[in-house]
Amino acid sequence: MSEWQQAWTAETGVRTAQELFRRAFGAEPDGVWASPGRVNLIGEHTDYNGGLCLPIALPHRTYVAASARSDGRVRMTTDIGTEPVWEGTLAELAPRKVSGWVAYCGGPAWALTGAGVAVPGFDLAVASCVPLGAGLSSSAAVECAVGLALAQLAGHRLDAGDADRARLAALCVRAENEVAGAPTGGMDQAASLRAQAGHALLLDCRDGSVEQVRFDLDAAGLALLVIDTRASHSLADGQYGARRAACERGAARLGVTTLREVTDLNAALAALDDDEVRRRVRHVVTEIGRVTDFVAASEAGDWATAGRLMDASHDSLRDDYEVSCVELDVVVAAARGAGALGARMTGGGFGGSAIALVRPEKMETVAHAVRVAASVRGLPTPEIHLAIPSDPGACLIEP
Ligand code: ADP
Ligand code: MG
Repeated sequence: MSEWQQAWTAETGVRTAQELFRRAFGAEPDGVWASPGRVNLIGEHTDYNGGLCLPIALPHRTYVAASARSDGRVRMTTDIGTEPVWEGTLAELAPRKVSGWVAYCGGPAWALTGAGVAVPGFDLAVASCVPLGAGLSSSAAVECAVGLALAQLAGHRLDAGDADRARLAALCVRAENEVAGAPTGGMDQAASLRAQAGHALLLDCRDGSVEQVRFDLDAAGLALLVIDTRASHSLADGQYGARRAACERGAARLGVTTLREVTDLNAALAALDDDEVRRRVRHVVTEIGRVTDFVAASEAGDWATAGRLMDASHDSLRDDYEVSCVELDVVVAAARGAGALGARMTGGGFGGSAIALVRPEKMETVAHAVRVAASVRGLPTPEIHLAIPSDPGACLIEP
């Protein structure tokens, strides 16, 4: 039998964050807020091209225990760092003044303040069961949970409706881009704040609009394995920016604002003289088409086609976009070989996680095959999670 990695229950998450808070600050927090990690079903590296993507929120969430302070000072602690507590002022939580986990945890304070929200000083403790750096968006889970907490400490509920959540998501994107310095595109924060249980979030990155697409794995007789290869994706930093820049060069050459505006792929490819840019453009444009096709296939219950689209997405990311790596290719091939309907890398790439869509009776076989394949190649043993479109997602939990 497989050991499936489990998400914390809300109770465990709240207790862990509260205990961390008590140990660090010797007091009870005003409240505990949570926001989830995500996996993207399909539509990779499309968000910063104004394209479509289709993430689901995971049951794995980040929990933030926080209290307001009246002296404008800030103290933050987290379960991941070796540094015990960071202490400073609100003014220090700004681009180029902080880095590492402090930038991810403190960035939302800067973004909210910039948007006119009167964020007070605060004490804050972060505890998370979202695997770190596994392509499951621990970064957005932190930003969104902190964003919810600080907005509420400032007297704003930014989780009431989708319009508020969209606004907060945009602020968390600013925090990640400008304070943490990661040039990511916005899918992660939208998934963390706007995805609903039993649904995938069809996000149109051209205008930020969303559609809830029913994705009920149980009802469909399916399971989704999330395979964390445990290959670090730290190499992604420069590479991610390089992919973005290639897309921008392609769009400029084609005279469009974003690659979303490309309507005739063959004409576009013929107009591009740089082979690298041509392949990047081909990935983005075909991937956006695969999102639409995946939604149609899933709505028709045609999971064989949905699986083939996942396979095609992986192949395009590997060959045209060149963001896969041996660890991802090995587990994807093993999952397919063991009977998955489809499998692909998910997230930015260069390590991190893959997903496999499987019939429940094949779960054990696929998981076993994935572990054996990694071991034969001398790669780290993957950790395998079961994805369930998460309920209740991002919210205030306590009090
Ligand atoms: P991921 O795929 O997990 O989002 P990223 O590289 O985008 O990977 O973000 C990981 C970074 O987010 C960490 O290096 C850390 O700075 C921050 N982070 C994630 N989880 C936590 C946490 N529990 N506490 C503090 N910072 C965190
Ligand atoms: Mg991230």
